[in-house]
Amino acid sequence: MSSVSPIQIPSRLPLLLTHEGVLLPGSTMRTSVDSARNLQLVRSRLLKGTSLQSTILGIIPNTPDPPSDAQDLPPLHRIGTAALAVQVVGSNWPKPHYTLLITGLCRFQIVQVLKEKPYPVAEVEQLDRLEDFPNTCKTREELGELSEQFYKYAVQILDAVSLEERFKMTIPLLVRQIEGLKLLQKTRKHKQDDDKRVIAIRPIRRITHIPGTLEDEDEDEDNDDIVMLEKKIRTSSMPEQAHKVCVKEIKRLKKMPQSMPEYALTRNYLELMVELPWNKSTTDRLDIRAARILLDNDHYAMEKLKKRVLEYLAVRQLKNNLKGPILCFVGPPGVGKTSVGRSVAKTLGREFHRIALGGVCDQSDIRGHRRTYVGSMPGRIINGLKTVGVNNPVFLLDEVDKLGKSLQGDPAAALLEVLDPEQNHNFTDHYLNVAFDLSQVLFIATANTTATIPPALLDRMEIIQVPGYTQEEKIEIAHRHLIPKQLEQHGLTPQQIQIPQVTTLDIITRYTREAGVRSLDRKFGAICRAVAVKVAEGQHKEGKLDRGDMAEGEGCREHVLEDTKPESLSDTTDLTLPPEMPILIDFHALKDILGPPMYEMEVSERLSQPGVAIGLAWTPLGGEIMFVEASRMDGEGQLTLTGQLGDVMKESAHLAISWLRSNAKKYHLTNASGSFDLLDNTDIHLHFPAGAVTKDGPSAGVTIVTCLASLFSGRLVRSDVAMTGEITLRGLVLPVGGIKDKVLAAHRAGLKQIIIPQRNEKDLEEIPSNVRQDLNFVTASCLDEVLNASFDGGFTVKTRPGLLNSKL
Ligand code: ADP
Repeated sequence: MSSVSPIQIPSRLPLLLTHEGVLLPGSTMRTSVDSARNLQLVRSRLLKGTSLQSTILGIIPNTPDPPSDAQDLPPLHRIGTAALAVQVVGSNWPKPHYTLLITGLCRFQIVQVLKEKPYPVAEVEQLDRLEDFPNTCKTREELGELSEQFYKYAVQILDAVSLEERFKMTIPLLVRQIEGLKLLQKTRKHKQDDDKRVIAIRPIRRITHIPGTLEDEDEDEDNDDIVMLEKKIRTSSMPEQAHKVCVKEIKRLKKMPQSMPEYALTRNYLELMVELPWNKSTTDRLDIRAARILLDNDHYAMEKLKKRVLEYLAVRQLKNNLKGPILCFVGPPGVGKTSVGRSVAKTLGREFHRIALGGVCDQSDIRGHRRTYVGSMPGRIINGLKTVGVNNPVFLLDEVDKLGKSLQGDPAAALLEVLDPEQNHNFTDHYLNVAFDLSQVLFIATANTTATIPPALLDRMEIIQVPGYTQEEKIEIAHRHLIPKQLEQHGLTPQQIQIPQVTTLDIITRYTREAGVRSLDRKFGAICRAVAVKVAEGQHKEGKLDRGDMAEGEGCREHVLEDTKPESLSDTTDLTLPPEMPILIDFHALKDILGPPMYEMEVSERLSQPGVAIGLAWTPLGGEIMFVEASRMDGEGQLTLTGQLGDVMKESAHLAISWLRSNAKKYHLTNASGSFDLLDNTDIHLHFPAGAVTKDGPSAGVTIVTCLASLFSGRLVRSDVAMTGEITLRGLVLPVGGIKDKVLAAHRAGLKQIIIPQRNEKDLEEIPSNVRQDLNFVTASCLDEVLNASFDGGFTVKTRPGLLNSKL
């Protein structure tokens, strides 16, 4: 680079007082202009139609405090930098504010202030000439980056007119700065190895730029990026329409000042456009036999679901297109819906992405915001595509039953467009504003219930029910899948920890009550964490086990057997075990880690007095057992119902009372004063715990009758019986839904006798045979049969045989 010819600055300079740093000759900085004095200067010297290049300003470093608008000129620093304004940007709204990009030319010294208002003008003496000093240039360049904490140093350096003095002051700072930059380069390189653009150290060549044509370094870097972006647009395989839009936008971008908010907006937009996988896809590799093996390997049980998924994949393979209904897995949480979706992606060799729709109530969540304001974004579909980087992923639309609705539009309508094979090859996200072809995406939906899926959406889907698991299935799932996964996640091996099946059964029955296996999985997580701590602490390796925390391994059984009271081993007992002994999780260890059992003895305890019966309810989370409690008190025949009941359930309660009142004599039911008029001077209170959960539906009818029959007869309902069924005023029992889930819930709770409506008998076929074996089913067509099965020894009054038949 040739040396630069010296320039002469005018002897009078308008002075701009900056407080944002010190401008050194040869460097460039941005400074904001908001004080009245500086605003005046900019307006009259820079914005009056004169070319920027013809105005030289005197830049005086002011104190780093906020600008003062005081009338009087503050004491001025003696030495300043003559500078050219390269760029002026700003606005008058909401209040006048400009930003100047200034480039330092040379030092000057104030000889005399000629004028103070409206902005200061001074007679100056030029101190250094613009000659090329390679070494000092380097110094200047590095110093341009000095942060505020070096402000004082920077002023001193500005004052150091003699070269030698300047060298002395700047070299230590320079070394420090370069070290910092090197460090930065190292980290960046490490992080973005593949991104060749990022080279942190700026090229030295820039320091020899000709003043007046100097570019801001940031700007320069940005310009490099823009060139890169333009190249990417050129080489991108996006469709023609998208390409046109990009070309237009980049043209606009190049003309825009960087400080405009729209600059960043447009740039982000273009970056997204080039990143999107317009034409990038993975190659499907579908082998139905391999898919079957993979699905079986990843999932125990759920035969119906796996079968349907394989059929779906087989049809796809034969037809070679995706048109057709969207699969929607419906079932309680933790039954493996997401997990099967992931396996489908794996069998096809496709990318997998989950889009959570729970609580989404704004359609722009799906379809994006229009690009009209800062902060607008594409919707989740386009975002998902950007994340996976291919245009044919498997998208799992999780919880489609929990979509909301709001003033911001209906997300279900947007989703319909996404799922419709006739429309989705032309899906237009509002942010993108050009069509993206979604026809290669494989959508799978999941839901807990179909009841709340918008009907139009439901219409597009093929529902596959995924019921909850039996205890036996859960044990198998735990030992084949959950435990090995948890061990791996916690860095444990079967040589370090053993969880026998009886322990798993204890966790299932005493620590969880769920249709799926999610809580069960979490409990194993908690156990693994506790064991990992033990193993990491090295206590176990050293052969020392703390009985207070953990039971010991199989191998120590011998020790335990020698010790006649294994349960009473004190907390401080140290057993010396060989290091390879696994930690055995037995019930004691379970209690230590998970605390006392959460669901113990509950059923029989709660049924220890008259006026309580167990019903079976269906919820989106699976089947559940539900207690119904009743009490009576003196009153005026009022019925109080609590427990957040819906209208249908309230009606069931009224029906039950009416039926019992009309049959009181037949069953010898009396109120406290011995009258067959059960509500005479009596109030009844019916409660359905848990009070915080809303309940509705007709299927509690039989349970309410049984509960009230128990209350008025003073007899206890059998503690092992649970029931479900709708009732009529005449005492008939009508069929209800969700039998499988309800029966599984009763089985989980350890109940033995299940009363169901006779017309639901066919539903029993769906129940796994091992569960059926454990249970005794009573099918009832009228309430007499329900009551007979609910009380030990039956309920019908024995002294009047035949009455039942003659009446019904
Ligand atoms: P969902 O989507 O139905 O709420 P997930 O797919 O998240 O449930 O399942 C929760 C956990 O249980 C996952 O780790 C999953 O692998 C496991 N899981 C559920 N069902 C099975 C099964 N049948 N076999 C193996 N693992 C299962």
